[in-house]
Amino acid sequence: MNDDVLLMIPGPTNVPTAVLEAIGQPTMYHRGPEFSALLDKCNRGLRTVFQTSQDVLILSSSGTGGVEAAITNLVNPDDRVLAIRGGKFGERMGEIAERYGALVTWVEVAPGKAAEPHQIADLLARRPFKAVLFVQNETSTGVTQNVATLAKIAHDYRCVTILDCVSGMGGIPVKTDEWGIDAVVSGSQKAFMLPPGLAFVSLSERAWELARTRKTPTYYFDLIEARKSLEKGQTPWTPAVNLIQGLGASLDLMLAEGMDHVYARHAAAGRAVRRAMQSLGLRLFADPAYASNVVTSVHAPEGISSTSLVKQLADDAHIIISNGQGELKGRIFRIGHMGAFDEETITRTVEAVARTLALLGHACDPTAAATTCMEAYRQ
Ligand code: PLP
Repeated sequence: MNDDVLLMIPGPTNVPTAVLEAIGQPTMYHRGPEFSALLDKCNRGLRTVFQTSQDVLILSSSGTGGVEAAITNLVNPDDRVLAIRGGKFGERMGEIAERYGALVTWVEVAPGKAAEPHQIADLLARRPFKAVLFVQNETSTGVTQNVATLAKIAHDYRCVTILDCVSGMGGIPVKTDEWGIDAVVSGSQKAFMLPPGLAFVSLSERAWELARTRKTPTYYFDLIEARKSLEKGQTPWTPAVNLIQGLGASLDLMLAEGMDHVYARHAAAGRAVRRAMQSLGLRLFADPAYASNVVTSVHAPEGISSTSLVKQLADDAHIIISNGQGELKGRIFRIGHMGAFDEETITRTVEAVARTLALLGHACDPTAAATTCMEAYRQ
């Protein structure tokens, strides 16, 4: 891990030394047996994390590429799809679908809230839709959707479900097969503890059928080609070999820790950061019923811009947290707690945030906040 700077943003996250070392190994020949064995190992590890018996394809792109791949392979021009606009990433899913000619109906959700099941059900009851596009963990607001419930409603109306799990997968459980999600997408730079540059995509049997009759043009992101290549232990195009070497190491770390423990650690961090922020007299931005365990969004105190907090914290403590995005810039701040962290990193971050807020004029007790954080983490 980089000892100088602590990245407590909701991705990219801190990369453990073992992963950096694996990335730094000589580049494998991407058509050779050693790389095929690595791809197979990664596919198996990703299946465990995705909780699916299907292949998980590894694409050399950022998370958005994975989302675009899922949409272009399953959604055709003039298909009606439902997209949830409650944050930047839900909106992006709908925009991608629109760009490729789909007819998007927006479910409007207030920032900080999750989509209500009845909002989805009411719209689906009115006319047939091909697909529902939604985000598991809306990173821009710190909200985790009730994926199982939304997926069930979508399936009741025979819709395909396309789920962006870029920031939640590996930190919050996703039961891909049990919940019947048709396309699940994640990315390397969040809970997978890797640098940016890889996207992971799984499709259900039904989704593979749809991909076979796809009408939307796509070349680089043709998932049928990707699957054919995977059967031969390869990728269609030259992959980001060294990142995949790192993925092997990061999956080793996650599976050695045990996914239940990984999820419990993220839940502990979410609980600890939320309680500590409240103990500072701050208001949480996300609806408490849907507050994320991988990123906590917090209103900046009256009279203090989150822009000043983020900058001062980076300058003084070398801890990087995120500002709000879009119209939330300056109004909220976001603390990422995904991937490689422990009680010490979380508590250090909370204490530093409190000290910086105190410096900026917010009356609070950093030591008490650190104690609250530690106690909640251990609970
Ligand atoms: N979806 C979600 C939920 C995200 O948090 C992000 C990135 O923060 C993305 C999609 C986009 O991923 P990338 O920036 O890797 O393209």
